[in-house]
Amino acid sequence: MTKKKITVIGAGFGGLSAAIRLLAQGHDVTLIDKRDKPGGRGYQYEIDGFKFDGGPTVITAPYMFDELFELAGKRKEDYFDLIELNPFYRIFNEKGEYFNYLRDPNQAAQEVAKFSPSDVVGYRKFVDSTVEVFNKFHPYTEKPFLKFSEMLAILPDMWKTGTLGSMYSYAKKYVKDDFIRKVCSFHPLLVGGNPFDTPSIFGLIIQFEKQWGVHYARGGTGSIAQALLKLFIEEGGKVMMETEVDQILLHNKTVKGVQLKSGDRLDADIVVSNGDVAFTYKHMIAKKERPRLLDLYFDNLQYSNSLVVIYFGTKRRYLDSKLDHHNIILGDRYRGLLKDIFNKKKLPDDLSLYLHMPTKTDPSIAPEGCESFYVLSLVPHLDAGINWEEIGDRYCDRVLQFLEDNYLPNLKENIVVKHHIDPVHFNKTLNSYKGAAFSIKPSLTQTGWMRPHNRSRFFKNLYFAGAGTHPGAGVPAVIASGKIVSNLVAEELGIPHRKAKMPIPELIT
Ligand SMILES: Cc1cc2nc3c(=O)[nH]c(=O)nc-3n(C[C@H](O)[C@H](O)[C@H](O)COP(=O)(O)OP(=O)(O)OC[C@H]3O[C@@H](n4cnc5c(N)ncnc54)[C@H](O)[C@@H]3O)c2cc1C
Repeated sequence: MTKKKITVIGAGFGGLSAAIRLLAQGHDVTLIDKRDKPGGRGYQYEIDGFKFDGGPTVITAPYMFDELFELAGKRKEDYFDLIELNPFYRIFNEKGEYFNYLRDPNQAAQEVAKFSPSDVVGYRKFVDSTVEVFNKFHPYTEKPFLKFSEMLAILPDMWKTGTLGSMYSYAKKYVKDDFIRKVCSFHPLLVGGNPFDTPSIFGLIIQFEKQWGVHYARGGTGSIAQALLKLFIEEGGKVMMETEVDQILLHNKTVKGVQLKSGDRLDADIVVSNGDVAFTYKHMIAKKERPRLLDLYFDNLQYSNSLVVIYFGTKRRYLDSKLDHHNIILGDRYRGLLKDIFNKKKLPDDLSLYLHMPTKTDPSIAPEGCESFYVLSLVPHLDAGINWEEIGDRYCDRVLQFLEDNYLPNLKENIVVKHHIDPVHFNKTLNSYKGAAFSIKPSLTQTGWMRPHNRSRFFKNLYFAGAGTHPGAGVPAVIASGKIVSNLVAEELGIPHRKAKMPIPELIT
């Protein structure tokens, strides 16, 4: 066995997944992150007794964590605890009426009947149709897309399943009511895509949720990131937190190591970047090493939206409100709002929000008698030219006022802690190009082979795990990208793949 010295830049979920797997192959792995805690977008803020998950809160496909622990002969249950949620989401329309997005399709169909009885049959057919979408396209989420021929090979299936079009137009074929169409098609928003132009292969997320449930990690998603880091350290991995990589060192287009911001150099045979792909290529590789057209390529890709996320704790509980654990609050002008954000790069006057109320499930993450929330508002990325330093506080006030007027009475006088992040945070703290919250936007022309590859096409021994590469954003996807990277490294070195004990079953309607 050829033991290699490997540096993984970034302790986001993609970086943790790659690092744990490469360690299990027997390599000498060092994981480096500029922040003081792991998780990346899943960083957990702790303020005056409140814990706030910075980003991912909807945890699906728990078998992906099982696989990581199994590689070390361990069980995830000994490290963190998942609680299944049902409904998965409570989705509010502009009148404040809500749809409980339940796991059981029969119960979900009753929710459809509340809004549009004539759509019940169509809704069932819609959900059933996503089984085929899952079966056809899920296997590609765990394989690299390094050849154009692989891309061509899936096109006939996309044609047959009618998934070349957008998620919204796919839903439109099955249901008539506009709100139910939104309920059926919002999933691309979870991974940085506009439902009106993200291909409906992303409908496979619906089956991920239905098949394996939507979960909450007790103590917050931060407890999963901490558990993965603990596993990595127990298995002999080296960790350097609060350490920023400045440059990836190259010689003859081959990786030689990394140079830290401190000036120190670390030798490495292989580097895996879990940092943003565009940022890595544009800012962490010396200009003289980069192919001439590389910057142009990244400048011309489309990037996902950004976000303003406000974390706030209240000195009273809101259990008497109509809110559930995961709340999606859709405005009247949904399509126009998304067009403003994704296409016109303009801050809309109205709001569509996701409101997280984890203390409904787990009061332990706030002081007694208090509630912990985060509210997320979609905003354009930095190309919009908005001065967030100037308008950030006012924007947050507007969002909180909306919540006070519609969902959380007397909110502002009850808030005891508050913190917010905006596109500048994504850019400066998380090193994301253009401050995009989900890196490169998922679209037909930026999926599969057409997304930046997991193995660099330009530099030997440079790999990518994370949202900007294949298969894309979202915790399960970036964990899969770590698996793809470790399999590519194994292949390159002639090491047999370690197969998971539990192959993913084919779904049956
Ligand atoms: C607010 C929000 C809510 C979300 N909700 C969900 C959800 O509910 N469910 C879901 O599945 N997904 C969700 N997502 C998407 C999901 O969180 C991300 O796609 C995923 O976590 C990205 O992981 P990653 O592996 O790409 O790494 P990232 O999380 O981007 O982490 C990259 C890490 O690299 C480090 N880094 C970067 N550059 C350097 C450098 N030069 N030197 C050292 N370290 C560096 C950063 O500090 C960071 O820790 C959400 C995203 C956001 C922003």
